[in-house]
Amino acid sequence: MASMPRAFKKTPFSHSLRFKRYWVYACITLFSIIVPFIHIGDGQIFLISFEHRQIHLLGKIYSAQEMYLLPFLVIFLFIFIFFITSMLGRVWCGWGCPQTIFRVILRDLIETKLLGLHAKISNKQRPTPSTAANKLKKILALILFAPVPIMAMAVLLFYFVPPLEFFRALSDPEEHALLIGIWAALSAVVFLDITWVQERFCIYLCPYARVQSVLFDDHTLNPIYDTRRGGAIYDEANVKIPILPQKRNPRNECVSCNQCVLVCPTHIDIRKGMQLECINCLECVDACTITMGKLGKKSLINWSSSQAQATQTPVKFWRPKTLAYVGVLLVVVGALVVGTLNKASMLLDITHGGRLYAVHGKFVDNSYLFLFQNTSSKPHAYTFNIDDPNVSILRPTGTLTIEPQGKLKVVVILRMPLQKAKEAYMAHNVTQAKRGILPITIKAYSMDDPNIVLEQKSIFMVPHF
Ligand code: SF4
Ligand code: SF4
Repeated sequence: MASMPRAFKKTPFSHSLRFKRYWVYACITLFSIIVPFIHIGDGQIFLISFEHRQIHLLGKIYSAQEMYLLPFLVIFLFIFIFFITSMLGRVWCGWGCPQTIFRVILRDLIETKLLGLHAKISNKQRPTPSTAANKLKKILALILFAPVPIMAMAVLLFYFVPPLEFFRALSDPEEHALLIGIWAALSAVVFLDITWVQERFCIYLCPYARVQSVLFDDHTLNPIYDTRRGGAIYDEANVKIPILPQKRNPRNECVSCNQCVLVCPTHIDIRKGMQLECINCLECVDACTITMGKLGKKSLINWSSSQAQATQTPVKFWRPKTLAYVGVLLVVVGALVVGTLNKASMLLDITHGGRLYAVHGKFVDNSYLFLFQNTSSKPHAYTFNIDDPNVSILRPTGTLTIEPQGKLKVVVILRMPLQKAKEAYMAHNVTQAKRGILPITIKAYSMDDPNIVLEQKSIFMVPHF
């Protein structure tokens, strides 16, 4: 029996998914702008500085030599995308992607609301008449939109160049031509993408759109037309049935208002089933909610899963696949936390000198190049000693003071009495070829912080006796 229509109900805008999306857009925009300005501990929350060869993560600063966390970050990013996509479908595309946000700003806000180029946000299919006034409006829309990619790309660069350094660079453009050139090029590309490529980027170019369908399953959240209630619109060969659903059977609830198609920014008909072009903006859900709301009925297009729709049960978010993703994410986060807590405050790179050894009178000398790096936020005075009591330090003679995040290359000369070298050579229980190579351990430490200490293995070369 066909369900009885309930009383006419106007859907308030504040209940629509579009209203909620606008709020999410505002929050994401605000968050993206604020994050580079927040400093906790020593650095920014997140920064990849190519100039300083550093990554800032949650206030800790990692130098290029400490990139051991980078693979974990990349793994986290990929697994997180897999997890979100398999659970919530292309939610990123409709609710978080800058491409969608910028298109809403240009098409819906500037072109439609401010300049009246399109009659309604809810009709994206009607072409704009090519009149002189409209051409002028088009140009005006481009001028009004131009600051958006320029500001957005500046914010993007704040994640690579600290905001204060970025503003300082603007005051000296000749000195920072590369940075300003990158900013201008990125802004131009985004401007062209939004104004000219438009949703074709989502349909044909976006790599995420290509891979997302393999991550879907029957429980993935998507906009889904309820064929059972509304009636089929397309046959099994995906050809549109010429007779309207209610003409075929009055029980079919789809009134063929076409609002779900008119509102779609990627120009598809969701009643055909899930399609690669769908960016999950859920405008079609809102459109049908308004139409069916006027008839006192529920929307025929819902943000649901095909399984939930078919069985009329709630969407099953937690299933073995999504739980497995969460498990892997927890392991990766654990590794990141452990890596962050165990962050070294000093790095030392030791290179044995070009000559194997040098004999000076009754001594044999070895030279080295030590690269000290202070990876902490305070200056430190460093020194080092050798585990072999027969090896003394000829050079350097004092402590080495290094500024925060600073590096210092030091030529080091170690000395051993020739007699001791001979004894060590004879006692060294290895093959003849390796007898001239004595293992030593170098212990470097900070004079002002007992927690900063590290040991490195190296060698001391002696002549063949
Ligand atoms: S079918 Fe169109 S309107 Fe509906 S969610 Fe997908 S892209 Fe948006
Ligand atoms: S908006 Fe709803 S009622 Fe109108 S055509 Fe689309 S599915 Fe049918």
